[in-house]
Amino acid sequence: MGLPMVRVQCPACGGVEVPAEHLECEIEPGEALMGICELVCPSCSWILLVPATAEEIRTLWGNGARYLWGATPFELLEPRYGLPISWDEVLDFVLSLEDLCPSQSAAGPDGVT
Ligand SMILES: [Zn+2]
Repeated sequence: MGLPMVRVQCPACGGVEVPAEHLECEIEPGEALMGICELVCPSCSWILLVPATAEEIRTLWGNGARYLWGATPFELLEPRYGLPISWDEVLDFVLSLEDLCPSQSAAGPDGVT
């Protein structure tokens, strides 16, 4: 009987298998329906963050996965809406920052040295 293995998707390597005990998982507070598992890809060593249901995480904990301590990036579980930010929107944002802080961009003769 081998170690319980978990199959996850690495963006670089595709499907990889890791022992459950190599995962660190935490369930989102509140409704506690979803959670996140962190692991290191055994092939490329990237740190992967994988969403999982609370039920799956309880099963993983029962098979050797550890708790994920510290700040868990649960915002990764939030659904995303709308289009990606465009380059024009970035430029508008920069221009509005310059309106707020004109001294940052204008190096005039009365600038502090
Ligand atoms: Zn990988």
